[in-house]
Amino acid sequence: MKVTQHIQAAKETQFSFEVIPPVKGKNIEELYSNIDPLMEFNPPFIDVTTSREEYVFIDRDGLFDKKVTRMRPGTLGICAAIMHKYNVDTIPHVLCGGFTREETEYLLVDCQYLGIDNVMALRGDAMKGQKYFEPTQGGHTYASELVSQIADLNQGNYLHDVVETNNTPDFCIGVAGYPEKHMEAPSLRTDLKWLKHKVDLGADYIVTQMFFDNQKFFEFTRQCREAGIAVPIIPGIKPIAVKKHLQLLPQVFRTDLPEALIEAVEACKDNAAVRQVGIEWAIEQSRELKAAGVPVLHYYSMGKSDNIKAIAQAVF
Ligand code: FAD
Repeated sequence: MKVTQHIQAAKETQFSFEVIPPVKGKNIEELYSNIDPLMEFNPPFIDVTTSREEYVFIDRDGLFDKKVTRMRPGTLGICAAIMHKYNVDTIPHVLCGGFTREETEYLLVDCQYLGIDNVMALRGDAMKGQKYFEPTQGGHTYASELVSQIADLNQGNYLHDVVETNNTPDFCIGVAGYPEKHMEAPSLRTDLKWLKHKVDLGADYIVTQMFFDNQKFFEFTRQCREAGIAVPIIPGIKPIAVKKHLQLLPQVFRTDLPEALIEAVEACKDNAAVRQVGIEWAIEQSRELKAAGVPVLHYYSMGKSDNIKAIAQAVF
């Protein structure tokens, strides 16, 4: 079922979350053990992230061979496994970075065979060691181009082939939005202009980057509506879990942290206490967002679910 249909069918705010595929070589059981405790909250869908590829340098008698590898492959396999095990919709994150248009088409064809109804269309981050995002040769530069490719496929338009079919895909397309603007955008206004562009090209819903101050989300939503963006906007929530997040999250995601949250984390003796502060902050955030009528609360689980479960128990 499509995310938009789940939203239309629900009377209340729903609970969903995102998982990360295991590191290559690890088995899937640990992932299951983190999903199991969250299934009692009836997520209508679970997102599965895709990691950018990395360069590795292999020493061949003093000469280094530069190779490309992916430490966490398997997004689509994980989607299929979770769908099969839990009978829940899964949403693969489809990236511009690291994929040619043709590879993307093959991925989308596989999604259709698996019965996946939703895909999240993202540009992807810069590769490790790169300062800026560099488009893959033959791939897309912006998520909007990827949205166009998926929307085209929904019309039965494959890249290079004329396919006579009455079995065209019909993907519901999610895209990313940034309540505190994307780090590369010169202003929130320009970022919103490009967000609207993604929606105009076919995006059906928006999931936001994490934020810790709900006023930023409310203001972002207001500005989206004013700009003519009418699709559902799903807030993304991440509970702070370790003290290092105070530096890491603003550095990596360019999110501001409210003074009260910083002070509460700084006062913690250890990371167990920080985790508890993160849970309590996310509960407060979630309750207020739920009261404001957001369609879904989407949690970034980062592979561990004890804190997400504690939040869900208090909110749902
Ligand atoms: P875009 O929409 O392409 O925007 C990128 C930047 O370009 C923005 O600054 C925008 O304002 C600007 N822009 C857009 N179009 C144009 C244009 N035509 N001309 C000029 N400027 C333009 N990353 C991963 O690698 N894997 C994941 O699984 C993943 N999941 C995510 C899930 C969510 C909910 C979110 C919010 C982010 C996720 N990301 C993921 C991170 C995302 O890939 C990065 O934030 C990336 O830097 C931007 O992706 P985007 O899709 O927002 O890009």
